[in-house]
Amino acid sequence: HDSPMQAQGDSGASRDSGAPGNAGNTLERDMRAAMKRGGFLLHYQPIVDLATGSITGFEALMRWQHPLKGAIPPSAFIPIAEETGLIISLGAWALKEACHKAASWPEPLKIAVNVSAIQFQQISMEETVAHALAQSGLAPHRLELEITETILMQDAEAVGASIRRLRAQGVRIALDDFGTGYSSLSYLHRFSFDTVKIDRSFVAGMTNPRTAAIVRAIVTLAGNLGARITAEGVETPEQRDFVRAEGCTEVQGYLFSPPLPPHDVLKLIRDGRSLVPG
Ligand code: C2E
Ligand code: MG
Ligand code: MG
Ligand code: MG
Repeated sequence: HDSPMQAQGDSGASRDSGAPGNAGNTLERDMRAAMKRGGFLLHYQPIVDLATGSITGFEALMRWQHPLKGAIPPSAFIPIAEETGLIISLGAWALKEACHKAASWPEPLKIAVNVSAIQFQQISMEETVAHALAQSGLAPHRLELEITETILMQDAEAVGASIRRLRAQGVRIALDDFGTGYSSLSYLHRFSFDTVKIDRSFVAGMTNPRTAAIVRAIVTLAGNLGARITAEGVETPEQRDFVRAEGCTEVQGYLFSPPLPPHDVLKLIRDGRSLVPG
């Protein structure tokens, strides 16, 4: 397999690095090294259809095993990758790797890939997506790009046009972490999404009647706009029952499965077992 650097070349100019004591710069340096060595990998978390219990696809989630520091979570390295521009080559690698992997899974399993705002601002973003699809042979409708409001806060017209062109190619678009931003509702109305992913903070807070009311409103609204609704971060049977009763179509969370290394994904697909107990 290609490493991110082999796949894309080192496009970003380095910030001043090597200043000891600056955690960001140290991580940036280590990240560049890891990208050359193939130190990043993708894990895949099942997305489960609540009506049937069958797996509809997987979300690709980046993992970095640091040689000295151990596993570094995306919340620590994605922001640095975004600040330094490394996310462009790292993200292009993830897209390519995820499409490649998904092409080996049986139809109609889909793959969801997270895309940063900085990637979306690239003129070449659509080309990168087309390239990943062509090289892997994956049908466009099996790829879903997960974007957040940060992307939509940019140049709304350009982003809207880009979303429309991607959807015209058959690629699906999901609005991730829905409800956590400042003007989520206005984005729902201005852009078209295939899927809305309800942020796990709403699932975790379901026992609060006010939170439950918001979930109900999101599901109704997104459903009326023709989007599928995925609940994120479902950890307990109670949370599963709640989001099912509220009309979510799909779920993701530790109750069903954590993100898995590629080998375990194949085992799971082969066993074909239902992930909705009870
Ligand atoms: P996200 O896209 O919202 O991904 C879902 C996060 O929730 C993942 O965290 C996943 O491991 C975690 N999760 C899943 N089920 C549960 C659960 O039941 N309980 C709890 N508490 N958490 C659960 P992870 O893997 O640490 O990723 C964090 C974020 O980093 C992602 O949030 C996404 O925004 C970003 N990220 C990860 N991989 C990529 C990538 O390849 N590219 C970009 N641009 N961002 C990525
Ligand atoms: Mg996501
Ligand atoms: Mg999310
Ligand atoms: Mg997120």
